[in-house]
Amino acid sequence: MDQKIALIERAKEMDVEFIHLQFTDILGVMKNVAITIEQLEKALDNEIMFDGSSIDGFVRIEESDMYLRPDLSTFVVLPWTNYPREARLICDIYKADETPFEGCPRNTLKKVLQEAADMGYIMNVGPECEFFLFHTDEKGQPSLETHDNAGYFDLAPIDLGGNARKDMTVILKQMGFEIETSHHEVAPGQHEIDFKYADALTTADNIMTFKMVVRLIAQRHGLHATFMPKPKFGVSGSGMHINMSLETLDGKNAFYDEGDEMKLSQVAYHFLGGVMDHAKGFTAITNPTVNSYKRLVPGYEAPVLIAWSASNRSPLIRIPAKRGNSTRIELRNPDPSANPYLALAAILKAGLDGIKNKIEPPTPVTSNVYHMEEQEMKEKGIEYLPGNIYEAVQWLSKDAVIKEALGDHIYEKFVDAVLYEWTEYSRYISQWELDRYLRKF
Ligand code: GLU
Ligand code: MG
Ligand code: MG
Repeated sequence: MDQKIALIERAKEMDVEFIHLQFTDILGVMKNVAITIEQLEKALDNEIMFDGSSIDGFVRIEESDMYLRPDLSTFVVLPWTNYPREARLICDIYKADETPFEGCPRNTLKKVLQEAADMGYIMNVGPECEFFLFHTDEKGQPSLETHDNAGYFDLAPIDLGGNARKDMTVILKQMGFEIETSHHEVAPGQHEIDFKYADALTTADNIMTFKMVVRLIAQRHGLHATFMPKPKFGVSGSGMHINMSLETLDGKNAFYDEGDEMKLSQVAYHFLGGVMDHAKGFTAITNPTVNSYKRLVPGYEAPVLIAWSASNRSPLIRIPAKRGNSTRIELRNPDPSANPYLALAAILKAGLDGIKNKIEPPTPVTSNVYHMEEQEMKEKGIEYLPGNIYEAVQWLSKDAVIKEALGDHIYEKFVDAVLYEWTEYSRYISQWELDRYLRKF
């Protein structure tokens, strides 16, 4: 039977009345257009239009007609809806002339994935999304109060967020996620739920769904979930570590080589070399907010230096111990404020550039790089990640490879939006300044 007809029948059988056609804007915010079941056929024929001029960083008024193309494989009934039930479909954005819209981050990732496929690779990604659960006040506004004083891997009853986390896990499982682990993180009120790796496109879709579910379920428990990278000074921030590997078209892990000292293949070394070479260039994408850089400071297991290690958690890249089919590289700078489609597109592009140009990675470090002296850094040629979003944008503007991954449209709109925020932030007079200078001068 025709796939579209089968989907419509399935939706009707499951009492679905509303379908949310979802897509993600350049800044990583999920948007949706809701339709009724009667419109589903039209939607699956790619006939649903929306006005792109109302979406941040999309288009000018005069070329604003955009079409949503649902990806049939992303159909999921939203488990928290009762009759009338609701479902969602993730969409790509197309222009009126039926070509992919350059401002659609999902199209951007697909473009780089195609480049990888042309080289014989599929990218697999397993993310580790960390987040905080905070109390809300009488008006339902988020506070910075946490509901617990638990620490890493602590158990109930100290971990009161555990109930919320359990519900998040149940809902995610009903939506087809395979949840591997869920635990309390280092800071009070900080949590992590890890789901199974998948191909990069599925993972980017999953990250968007994950964030939506975590926020919604937290709200139902009277809590506020935030993926802000560093909500609190003096405790750990939230990262979104990216575990990745390339798979050959015949299903083998291209990063594994039994014969190598570290059991890593030449492809893995070159991919690593490329990622390190372009790290400064893609940090604006993987860490896109003013706040992102407050997390990238020494002492909280977030990276500061562009170095790699087989085990230590302080450098940018760690190679987890697992080998064979689980051989992977863990990139530790991305944070959950990043647009996952653009982040994965930029990281993959960097790695592919490493493979194409046979970029060798530097020697790995073995010690805690937070304690590394400037002299040793110089000798080893180790550099810092950009220190703020302005610096990161300057590096991005010099990186032709990452810019090509983004395309002109997204690059320009992204930089405009980020610099606007930076300017506003730079002019703002913070409490820190008042505390420091008001009495002193
Ligand atoms: N929260 C840390 C970060 O900001 C990571 C902790 C961990 O290794 O899981 O990246
Ligand atoms: Mg963690
Ligand atoms: Mg990790």
